[in-house]
Amino acid sequence: MKQPTTRTTSRPAFPRVPLCPLWSTTCLTLLLTVAVATTSACTKTTPADATATASTSANQNEKPAEPPAPPEPAPADNTPLPHIDAKRAFEYTREVTAFGPRYMGSENHKKLERYILDHLKSDQLEDDAFTADTVEGKFPVRNIIAKFPGAKDGIIVILGHYDTNYPLRNTGYVGANDGGSSTAILLEYANQLRGKKRDGYSVWLVWTDGEEAVKTWSGTDSVYGTRHLAEKWEKDGTLKKIKALMVMDMIGDADLNIDRATNGAPWLLDLIYSAAEREGYQSHFYARQGVIEDDHLPFFQRGVPCADVIDLDYGYNNVFHHTPQDTMDKLSPRSLAIVGDTILETIHLIDQR
Ligand SMILES: [Zn+2]
Repeated sequence: MKQPTTRTTSRPAFPRVPLCPLWSTTCLTLLLTVAVATTSACTKTTPADATATASTSANQNEKPAEPPAPPEPAPADNTPLPHIDAKRAFEYTREVTAFGPRYMGSENHKKLERYILDHLKSDQLEDDAFTADTVEGKFPVRNIIAKFPGAKDGIIVILGHYDTNYPLRNTGYVGANDGGSSTAILLEYANQLRGKKRDGYSVWLVWTDGEEAVKTWSGTDSVYGTRHLAEKWEKDGTLKKIKALMVMDMIGDADLNIDRATNGAPWLLDLIYSAAEREGYQSHFYARQGVIEDDHLPFFQRGVPCADVIDLDYGYNNVFHHTPQDTMDKLSPRSLAIVGDTILETIHLIDQR
């Protein structure tokens, strides 16, 4: 993971000026871009503006063209805004973190697998288990998938990794935010989805394994679980059915700033922002933007509409990231609520598309 160093104040694309951050050892890569002062990106063309432009270009002798009819207003959406149980999600984060280091192949990892499965007893589950051959040897890898069927033809996938870093196994590192928060928010999504008839698309939750590098982050030493899953879903035709795929990572930081990971589907990134606006959380989104390497990559590279929902600014200059300082006291239930509510509302908006 490489680290962002600048901020932008507008969402849409700006000219890119790569900076020279000191990359930490790591799991994700964020090549940040610099904002150039501009207001055009924020300017919206209203129907009135469009009319003015059309009439000035018309011949003065001709009768002015009738202004175009305004678009049909969208039907009122009276569905109440969703809200997760953030206290419960925070408690899950605490319990997951309390297992200690949860790197691939460890006893704590197995305990966490059982913990996740215990919470999904009544759900439709699927395992994607295999052995990863890595520079540090062979490791068992297990993606856990819970499926919540919907009436519409298509799937919305929400991913979040539950492993912690192998190289940090003897440092006291417990990954409260990185690994803990993602595991927990998915458990809470399962609570929200369980037992409700879905009129929209099916939602699949995936607790991914082997997201972290076993030595040094690279194309071959990272995202072991999702590389396997994307290949499998490509072969069995599942990829074609995925309407949207969203990754949850490091979303518990009390000082929450979700980055706009530009290697994603622009319409989905915008939809997430719209959902955040509807919830009144937009100030926590997209102050910075850049390319991020995370669990979405194997899907993004195969053309799946993706969004990496991540805050890669964890502590001043990201100092808590991948260090023993990644502990519960840095996190907040409020941040889990901001992301949790926003993503549930995003699912609702995708269902309407
Ligand atoms: Zn990480």
